[in-house]
Amino acid sequence: MYATEFDIRQHVPLRTLTSLRVGGAARYFTRVDSREGVSAVAAWAAERGLPLLVIGRGSNLVVADAGFPGVVLRVSIRGVTTRLADDTVELRIGAGENWNTLVTRTVQRNWAGMECLAGIPGLVGASPVQNIGAYGQESSDTICAVEAFDLDTGQVVTFSSAECQFDYRSSRFRTDGRVRYIILSVSYRLRRNGPPTVQYVELERDLAAQGLTRPSLQEVRRAVLAIRARKSMLLRADDPNAHSAGSFFTNPLITAAQMAALDAEIARQYPGAPRIPRFEKAGSTYKIPAAWLIERSGFARGYSAGAVGLSTNHVLAIINRGGATTEDVLRLARVIRDRVFDRFGILLTPEPVMVGVSLDAGG
Ligand SMILES: Cc1cc2nc3c(=O)[nH]c(=O)nc-3n(C[C@H](O)[C@H](O)[C@H](O)COP(=O)(O)OP(=O)(O)OC[C@H]3O[C@@H](n4cnc5c(N)ncnc54)[C@H](O)[C@@H]3O)c2cc1C
Repeated sequence: MYATEFDIRQHVPLRTLTSLRVGGAARYFTRVDSREGVSAVAAWAAERGLPLLVIGRGSNLVVADAGFPGVVLRVSIRGVTTRLADDTVELRIGAGENWNTLVTRTVQRNWAGMECLAGIPGLVGASPVQNIGAYGQESSDTICAVEAFDLDTGQVVTFSSAECQFDYRSSRFRTDGRVRYIILSVSYRLRRNGPPTVQYVELERDLAAQGLTRPSLQEVRRAVLAIRARKSMLLRADDPNAHSAGSFFTNPLITAAQMAALDAEIARQYPGAPRIPRFEKAGSTYKIPAAWLIERSGFARGYSAGAVGLSTNHVLAIINRGGATTEDVLRLARVIRDRVFDRFGILLTPEPVMVGVSLDAGG
């Protein structure tokens, strides 16, 4: 019935659709560039009782070696609508637009709000899912609405920013609504001629080293891209460190009591060592760097374990060194998680979306 509306391919290896380059085959794979296409694929899958997995560029996914037994759908809806107001501009962007291209264009027009998020791989449709963030900004700072197809009702719904339930690397689209909503477009509100956000210490230092005391949006964007390039956190085909899902673990959020216990434990294990860096958040929670805990647990940059390892430029990125399987990736992740827990009592949580696998299973 829907055969003419979208092309569907069978047994497509997911390793060809993910940046980590692991994962078995999608039973079916298709891409659509319209809302009608999304609705048609949803109906096609529902009629056959097949689960649906929506993907963008696959840069935050770890899919089982067994593959995905249903329909994998890439939403390629394009389009940009611009509405100017006095000091702001509202952009409605199709889910299939490239995120980094969007950032580049907004900075060129001197619209502030996304400049620190330059270089993050992926599509616009995924930007609300884990509330992407880097160098002092998060997508939730500027998202004002998300339009999605509701698989439960077959209707298109629009969520306000508050309704998206944004949190650190989280939103309703990663929690309760993960298999319910297909994001069609995202709206952002940016500040016309606004100043750049320079709050992140590493970025501040980098700009200061260049003598940029009042940097422009463009200068901040360039500095972010340069820092990311040094850490292999740009998706470049010629960089073997880039065969990753970005940071494999989120930075732990801990309570004041846990912070005090951790400080005491670190002082006991490393007498006289400097304190672990921390970022104090509202509500007496602290965000601490997972990378610090991993390095102090004995995993250096470039650590290797057969076909997998850690990036030589960034200890948080687990990389596929060539021919790895998903199980190889998970095995290393479990070893790291368990050693950090044994040493510091802090449980690391994976950042990528796990499909058909879990760090808890098998280890
Ligand atoms: C080198 C590298 C660096 C990275 N740096 C950062 C960083 O600095 N900060 C950061 O936050 N992330 C970072 N990431 C992770 C990743 O780039 C982001 O999470 C990005 O938003 C994923 O986009 P994607 O299109 O590849 O989504 P995918 O990986 O394909 O999907 C991610 C999730 O979003 C869902 N999804 C995708 N599209 C839709 C849609 N249209 N509707 C509903 N759900 C959808 C998927 O089902 C999945 O759950 C990095 C990754 C890599 C490889």
